[in-house]
Amino acid sequence: MNAKLEELKSWYETTFQAAPSVMAWAPGRVEFLGNHTDYNLGMVLGSTIDRGIIVMMTPRKDQMIGLASTGKDHPIVEVELDGLEPLPGDSPVSWVNYPLGVLKIMIQNGMRPQKGFNIGIWSDLPEGSGLSSSAALETASALALGKLYGFVFEDKYALMRTGWRAEREFVGMPCGILDQTVVIFGDADHLVSIDCKAELAKGVRFQGDYQFWVFNTAHKHALIDSFYADRNAECMGARDVLRTVEPGIAGLCDLSPAAFEPHKGLLEPVALKRATHIIEENARVRETIRLLEKGAVQQEAIGSLLFQSHRSSQHLFENSTEDLDFLVDTLERAEGVYGARLTGGGFGGAVLAMTTPEFGEAGAAKIRSAYAAFSGRQIEPLMVKAGPGAKLL
Ligand code: ADP
Ligand code: MG
Repeated sequence: MNAKLEELKSWYETTFQAAPSVMAWAPGRVEFLGNHTDYNLGMVLGSTIDRGIIVMMTPRKDQMIGLASTGKDHPIVEVELDGLEPLPGDSPVSWVNYPLGVLKIMIQNGMRPQKGFNIGIWSDLPEGSGLSSSAALETASALALGKLYGFVFEDKYALMRTGWRAEREFVGMPCGILDQTVVIFGDADHLVSIDCKAELAKGVRFQGDYQFWVFNTAHKHALIDSFYADRNAECMGARDVLRTVEPGIAGLCDLSPAAFEPHKGLLEPVALKRATHIIEENARVRETIRLLEKGAVQQEAIGSLLFQSHRSSQHLFENSTEDLDFLVDTLERAEGVYGARLTGGGFGGAVLAMTTPEFGEAGAAKIRSAYAAFSGRQIEPLMVKAGPGAKLL
């Protein structure tokens, strides 16, 4: 890591003619279980991974902000500190909306930057593959900006809400709190359990031996953002119908499968499928937390809940793809796989598999070549490990 940091500092210095004065790092995350339950105010389990984004900053003497990323071929993007507005989503440098959105939210929360700054970004987190490079970028930016301008976050939740609001209000992605929360609360050998209604997070120890593998399909639907927004709207529509008989519910996850059962007839077929997925998925997360809290090794039982989750995404929520299904089908037949499911929003992206420690590179290579034969795409399976949450370096 140290050699890497030196290399990064020298890239930053070449780009901005000054050594970075503040550096922050934030990891990516995998959604372990809890598919679209977050904005339905249910439970989610996530895990940090041992890859992430580093943000480096220096103050400027003028009112400008300079932005550059090692991952983007465009040189420095410059914008004015005053009157921050998002760039259109189809701009070749729309990535600047993530750090700028964070800045805008922090200004709304009382931060008063008198002068601008330069920000440089480095990442070993593949973007747009369900590992939440966006939350890593937002969170590392928020930590670094706080340090640069002496802005103190009340607690980890205030930090979480900064990135979350930036993504919703500035970038325009109606996401739940999962990504930012896991990135901030994660730790080695733990999953993060999140109650999205109470907005409370806690670490749950995951005992025993296992590996997490991420198989990115390298293919996502072009309309992914609008599909995501459609599912959100379908869930809210189903909730509104159910509220006519259960006025107390704030989100679909306020209903247990048993409480939902008598009301199923109220929903039209599509709404029924979406609501069933969300309500049963929430029950699967609760069951997994119960198993983890029992303390013993529970890999088989938890793995089977992962497979169930995928089948529910595939048939009820309809946010899977042929590629994701192929990977899960192949993993289900393979040796040493406890469970697998699509991770993240779906409509492309990645499959998460929980395997035995013996599965290893050899097991992953078999899945990879099967997928190449099926799709014509070469993918790089990633073994990921839960690690520390976001921090200043
Ligand atoms: P995910 O969060 O699953 O990786 P998103 O679409 O939410 O996918 O976020 C990806 C976006 O985050 C990219 O399109 C880009 O705008 C921004 N981003 C991610 N990594 C980098 C990077 N290294 N440099 C600049 N922007 C990045
Ligand atoms: Mg994201």
